[in-house]
Amino acid sequence: MGDEERHASPNRPSPRRHGEEAANRGPYGSGGKMSLGEALLEQAARLLADARLLVVFTGAGVSRESGIPTFRDPIEGVWARYDPLRMATLDGYLQDPPLVWRWYEHRFGIVAGAHPNAGHIAIAELEQVLPRVVVVTQNIDGLHQRAGSSEVIELHGSMHRFKCLSGHHAGLTRADFAGQTEQPPRCSLCGELLRPDVVWFGEVLPEDALAAAFRLARACDVMLVAGTSGIVHPAASVPLLAAQAGTPVIDVNPEPDELARSATICLRGPSGEVLPRLLQRLADT
Ligand SMILES: [Zn+2]
Repeated sequence: MGDEERHASPNRPSPRRHGEEAANRGPYGSGGKMSLGEALLEQAARLLADARLLVVFTGAGVSRESGIPTFRDPIEGVWARYDPLRMATLDGYLQDPPLVWRWYEHRFGIVAGAHPNAGHIAIAELEQVLPRVVVVTQNIDGLHQRAGSSEVIELHGSMHRFKCLSGHHAGLTRADFAGQTEQPPRCSLCGELLRPDVVWFGEVLPEDALAAAFRLARACDVMLVAGTSGIVHPAASVPLLAAQAGTPVIDVNPEPDELARSATICLRGPSGEVLPRLLQRLADT
C-alpha cells in the first residue's frame, strides 16, 4: 500500500499522540479488517460521499508536484544569488522594480510550461460526483482552474492578474499591457507601475476571499486539506475553523504536519497519488 499505511496513525492506539481524540472522532473510529491504508481511504471516501458541500484547501505541496518551486525551495541558475523573500515584498519591489518583475516573469514561464498533476485533476473531478466542491487555495499559479475546478478562491491572489501600485486599478491581465516594452509596464489608467496581484509578505490577504473562505469553512460538511503544512495564518485558520465546528477534516500530506492534530483522518502520501485513489474509492462507494 501507499505511504499512508506506514505513517498514518489515527487508528493506532497511542495515548501520547496529540489530538488522538480528534483523530478518532466520527463514526468510523477504530480498527478494521482491511489494512490500515485501505481502511483509512475507505473511511475518507465514506465521509466524502455524504458531503453536500466539500471544501478542498490546498497549499504549495500540490503545486510542487507539478514542478512549481516554492519560495523556500533551493534556487538555481541566475536567481541563486537573490533572496526569494526579497522578491515577495513591496519594499523589495520598490527597491528594484525591473528585477522583481523579471523574477515573476521567470516564475510565470515555469508555470506556463507546467501542467496540472493528478492531484489537481482528481480535485477537479470531485465535482462530477459531489453536489458542490469549492477549492480554497494558497497557490497563485492557476493550476486548479486549468485542471477544471470551477469554483476556486485564491487566498494569496494570482500571478495571472495584475494591479497598479496605487491599488485603484486591479484585475488586469497580460493582454492589458501586451503592447508595452517598458518593464515593469505601467497602468494605462493612472501611469503607476503594475505589479502582480499576489499577496506579498507583510500584506493582508484579500478581504473578500478570506471572508468567503472562513464562511465556507464553517458551512462545509467535509474539509479536505492537501499539500499544506497549516502553519501560516490567517490561511491556516481555514481548516481549523472546520475542525472547531466539528466538521470532519481529511489531511493529505507526505509528512506529518500541524494540521494532523486537528484532522479526523490523515492520509500520508503525495496528493498526486493519494487523491486519485480517494476519488476512485469515492466513485466505488
Ligand atoms: Zn492604475
